[in-house]
Amino acid sequence: MIPMDGPVSGRIDLCYEGDPGLLPADEALRRIEAHVPVLTDIETVDVVDALERVLAEDVTSPVDVPGHTNSAVDGYAIDGAALPADGQTRRFRVVGRAMAGNPHPHAVAAGECVRIMTGAVMPAGTDTVIMQEHVHRDDAQVDVGDGHRPGQNVRQAGEDLQAGATMLGAGTLLMPAALGMIASAGVARVRVYRRLKVAFFSTGDELRSLGEALEPGQVSDSNRYTLRGMLTRAGVDFEDLGVVRDDPQALADALTRACETADVVITSGGVSTGDADHVKQLLEERGQVGFWRIAVRPGRPLAFGLLADRVFFGLPGNPVAVMVTFHEFVQPALRKMTGCTTPPPPLLEARCPLALRKKPGRVEYYRAMLTRDTQGQLEVRPTGKTGSGLLHTMNDANCFIVLAHDLDSLPADTVVPVQPFYGLV
Ligand code: AMP
Ligand code: MG
Repeated sequence: MIPMDGPVSGRIDLCYEGDPGLLPADEALRRIEAHVPVLTDIETVDVVDALERVLAEDVTSPVDVPGHTNSAVDGYAIDGAALPADGQTRRFRVVGRAMAGNPHPHAVAAGECVRIMTGAVMPAGTDTVIMQEHVHRDDAQVDVGDGHRPGQNVRQAGEDLQAGATMLGAGTLLMPAALGMIASAGVARVRVYRRLKVAFFSTGDELRSLGEALEPGQVSDSNRYTLRGMLTRAGVDFEDLGVVRDDPQALADALTRACETADVVITSGGVSTGDADHVKQLLEERGQVGFWRIAVRPGRPLAFGLLADRVFFGLPGNPVAVMVTFHEFVQPALRKMTGCTTPPPPLLEARCPLALRKKPGRVEYYRAMLTRDTQGQLEVRPTGKTGSGLLHTMNDANCFIVLAHDLDSLPADTVVPVQPFYGLV
């Protein structure tokens, strides 16, 4: 058993008041949030391997960064108290050089200055740097005019990170800037949650994998390839269990196998109410169903539940619905399970020049392209027809228009909420 925190064995509250069978999207998200456990396994990794991992412990800087007060520009270091008054010029004698990694060893006296390069430690007796473009140099002397400020062009020790202070909190998703920060403090290894393991398979008698010949009526499986891409982007480990027939025993065997190694099991297809849709039945028999139909379009059949301590998502079969439900419901669950507390970026708002059809009582996601109009304002347009099998409309999109549960149809030029993909889909 893989140790996890959270209410893994608690029953999920199954019924939705006045159950018309369709759970509102926000309630579905609430149930996911309430019932998916957070990993407890923690490991130590080198900073070079830590990209997109989630910190399991705070990282404290052992040192000040920068470690020394230093120059932000190439120029001349002086004592700011010696700057000339308005309308005046003052002459300083150049008594040495300070280079990055090669400090000037002596204190600087009144009337003296040091030639200094960006990153060089400020010599004793100086606190101000005049950019080289702003002095007049004459052999071993420089003339400094007015208009300067004491302390200018200097980076203070500890102004980026302070010794002993927390620089990154547990739950932080480590992006490139965070890796650089950690390295800047000289920290070589960090404590992170282990990577999540996901097993997935497609269900459907009609499906064939790439490389297999198609008989009449058969369909190339695309969902597993889309899922691979999205799971890779989500930073999880995964196992592809292939195509499984619409046969209760074959599905049961595949679920058993998936649960042997994975924290999360994802299937696609077979969660509707058709004669060949056995997934929900199996989930009921072997685990707990959190919900299996939600009020979203595309994506209405979406099963969520627990198989012992494994989290289960039964995604719809239609390829666009797979991507929408993964992005909106699976991705938040994966983030929570890996301990990530970095919030997703906020929605934007953009004007849609086209009228949008919408039924109240469900959230609708339009695949759309976000651009700027000729006035420079954000503009968003659906990428084509709304059929949930039209994968090209997803490929052409860079965002979803998200139309809230209660909304009715919208006239052209309405400002609508937009969720950019940021590379996941
Ligand atoms: P289902 O939810 O199993 O009824 O499937 C709904 C639709 O999605 C059907 O047209 C299926 O053929 C199609 N579909 C299901 N799974 C896949 C898949 N893995 N790749 C492509 N199409 C699929
Ligand atoms: Mg099917």
